[in-house]
Amino acid sequence: MPKFEYAPAPESRAIVSLRESYGLFIDGEFSPGVDGRAFKTISPATEEVLAEVTEAGPADVDRAVTAARKAYEHTWSQLPGRERAKYLFRIARIVQERARELAVLESLDNGKPIRESRDVDIPLVAAHFFYHAGWADKLEYAGYGPAPRPLGVAGQVIPWNFPLLMLAWKIAPALACGNTVVLKPAETTPLTALTFAEICQQADLPPGVVNIVTGAGETGRALVEHPGIDKVAFTGSTEVGREIARACASSRKKVTLELGGKAANIVFEDAPIDQAVEGIVNGIFFNQGHVCCAGSRLLVQESVYPEIIASLQRRLATLRLGDPLDKNTDVGAINSAAQLAKIRELSEVGEAEGAQRWSPPCELPVKGFWFPPTVFTGVSQAHRIAREEIFGPVLSVLTFRTPAEALEKANNTPYGLSAGVWTEKGSLILWMASRLRAGVVWANTFNKFDPTSPFGGYKESGYGREGGRHGLEAYLDV
Ligand code: NDP
Repeated sequence: MPKFEYAPAPESRAIVSLRESYGLFIDGEFSPGVDGRAFKTISPATEEVLAEVTEAGPADVDRAVTAARKAYEHTWSQLPGRERAKYLFRIARIVQERARELAVLESLDNGKPIRESRDVDIPLVAAHFFYHAGWADKLEYAGYGPAPRPLGVAGQVIPWNFPLLMLAWKIAPALACGNTVVLKPAETTPLTALTFAEICQQADLPPGVVNIVTGAGETGRALVEHPGIDKVAFTGSTEVGREIARACASSRKKVTLELGGKAANIVFEDAPIDQAVEGIVNGIFFNQGHVCCAGSRLLVQESVYPEIIASLQRRLATLRLGDPLDKNTDVGAINSAAQLAKIRELSEVGEAEGAQRWSPPCELPVKGFWFPPTVFTGVSQAHRIAREEIFGPVLSVLTFRTPAEALEKANNTPYGLSAGVWTEKGSLILWMASRLRAGVVWANTFNKFDPTSPFGGYKESGYGREGGRHGLEAYLDV
């Protein structure tokens, strides 16, 4: 239990001025949808309706793709890299200027703690635009030939777990390389993308270079299947990723997919225990576990198992769950009722299959979607909670005796997005890192992101890389 109680420290939401309803951002302007359909976006912490958002149909997607094509051919691809860079630098600076507003809006619409949106998401959004602004006039030095060409119009579909950050991962490299974009944010978290559209206007970005079409899965499908798209970039579930890969297989579209994960966070007996426990907590309870690279499988060396579990349980009892806008909150709301149902269902399966479930004493708010930090021990590799992505604040703990056994268990997954290794031995870190089938391996840390560092997966975690020099390749005709 916490040694003392914290007084509430809510961040003011006065800085955000929500409109009652939002149109689609096409050709530099907000416009209504052709067939007049709309949906509501709510705060998952309170179920309060925040705004009404337009549902784009195929005719709207077509308008957006046409605007992006025109902007590509007549404006954006004709600009020298240093001119494109100026726009990207301008966007980055406006994101910094409006950082508090964007952080509050992200926490309202997504449910994540303000501490995370303020200190992680939004600074990384600005960093991605700054980083790619730097590349825009240096592409001939990126290692893809003397005059790398853009691809054309990119259709980009993003999920709800890091709404504005995923937008930045997609839009910044696309624009830096000379492409124009049509982006569809997730149905449950469209508000920061729509505010980003205002930022594009504020930065005087030429009309049509960025288009934002809101809607649900059908809008995403219409976008990726549109014949006017040259490049598809998707982040989301493996199931939808497969569908997109199938839909694009017979076209000339270049596709990158960033899908699910079931990462192993591996703690050896010589690891600094307190530091490792912080890493375990950050690995799975950061962003309510709605993280594709979350350390959702904890592999602990048997000799330190009792100590790690006791220390982890003590630490979890100090986490504060509640109002995402409270600056002391560690664990916010689950993003949607559907995601909460999925987390509940898989947790029940875990119990039914014989694993032991534990959560700290934790009062859940009555309104909204909430799930307490949860740890399953006695998990075997065959259990569904050790194999399937739960995408919530649920940790499955397994044990091992030797590095070889840890490696085998870590790699025994259909996914391969990330992994963590905790040990004081540099040689063991290198031995593990070279054998783990994971796109990112963190050593003595977890969930650290940087625009200079490529991110992406093996196996069912998708293909292609985002970030760094490698990420540029996805937006160049190489
Ligand atoms: P989805 O993969 O369905 O959603 C990702 C994005 O794709 C959203 O914008 C979604 O729209 C859109 N979309 C849905 N169907 C299609 C389609 N047929 N063609 C094109 N675009 C489509 O993820 P969910 O939100 O349904 O989450 C389900 C599970 O996926 C989670 O429980 C989690 O396990 C995993 N997931 C993994 C993520 C990752 O980063 N790897 C991110 C999000 C989820 P809409 O929002 O309207 O449905």
